[in-house]
Amino acid sequence: MKLIEPIVRFHAELQHIRRDLHAHPELCYEEKYTSDVVAQKLTEWGIPILRGLGVTGVVGIVKSGSSERAIGLRADLDALPMQELNSFPHCSKNAGKMHACGHDGHTAMLLGAAYYLSQHRNFDGTVYLIFQPAEEGGAGAKRMMDDGLFEKCPMQAVFGMHNWPGMAVGKFGVRPGAVLACSSEFEVIIKGNGAHAALPHNGIDPILIAVQIVQSWQAVITRNKNPIDAGVLSVTEFHAGSATNVIPDEATLRGTVRTFSLEVRNLIEQGMRDIAQNIAAAFGATVEFRFDYGYPPLINHPEETAFALGVMQSIVGAQNVNAQVAPSLGGEDFAYMLQEKPGCYVLIGNGEDEHREIGHGLGPCNLHNPSYDFNDDLLPIGATYWVRLAEAYLGRT
Ligand SMILES: [Zn+2]
Ligand SMILES: [Zn+2]
Repeated sequence: MKLIEPIVRFHAELQHIRRDLHAHPELCYEEKYTSDVVAQKLTEWGIPILRGLGVTGVVGIVKSGSSERAIGLRADLDALPMQELNSFPHCSKNAGKMHACGHDGHTAMLLGAAYYLSQHRNFDGTVYLIFQPAEEGGAGAKRMMDDGLFEKCPMQAVFGMHNWPGMAVGKFGVRPGAVLACSSEFEVIIKGNGAHAALPHNGIDPILIAVQIVQSWQAVITRNKNPIDAGVLSVTEFHAGSATNVIPDEATLRGTVRTFSLEVRNLIEQGMRDIAQNIAAAFGATVEFRFDYGYPPLINHPEETAFALGVMQSIVGAQNVNAQVAPSLGGEDFAYMLQEKPGCYVLIGNGEDEHREIGHGLGPCNLHNPSYDFNDDLLPIGATYWVRLAEAYLGRT
């Protein structure tokens, strides 16, 4: 592995920062301590900062030479609302909050790059170090963009990275196109007319209608959608009634739709709406149809993906980079940034638990698991990737 020596020598300090952040997890838009740590470190290293984008977001600005070109490197700051089961010294001190997605490590890796870039400006242009709040459901990436991120910090491309448990340390994964899904939620209320269970002809039974809607919706997946396109529709809640001898007024259906493209999502939404409304109408009932769009799908741009791939290969060797890593139906708000700017999101192996010491919980070291911990062995690898990516992108020509 070709790691950057000064970053390797800085490992203990980066680990200290990472564990301090792990001990002080904060939720969406409440990343006060975390953003203060980031701002203080960047300032200490002589890097000008911009604060307040996306409430608690911080952008570090490292310039060199005279080129107008610029690149954005993005890390996320926030933790999850869950109780940590680990008991090692750096476990969460904030009850009910935990860094179970490794954003503490993402922040530390980008700080490692910032430290090196501030001292060795081997590039021509500007590196924007984007520390983003509220990835876990708060759309912090979008909030920073709404607050003018790309106007105040004009850049040609933006890059992201996430640790990946189960992938060995020293390995990377990437793919062009869709990497993570768009995840929408729906709620449909079928409004019938209640009646005595023995006198159904006096009412409109919303349960019978809802059952037919649930069944017909799957035809949108198998008959309307191109079978080559991925798409899942799951009804996960069905609520109706309160007594064995009463036909209720209403039935409520809730669930989720996941796809890798907005076109397929829109097709599924339209099909669901048509089926719900028309089946209900056939029985004299009405529906209230709500479909909430979550994060868009995360789509890597082909050119920037090829570029990032070359950088990863130069650090860990071609045999340690999976250039066609399997996509996942998880979501990620970095997708918003990739809708506006070309760029690429890569996965960095978090290992198979070998980093776990005494004091870890008994559960698996998976993302969003209460026994998870970021693997500090990645800190110099991720930081080296960030630096080499920026240097290559803003190379002196
Ligand atoms: Zn997460
Ligand atoms: Zn995450």
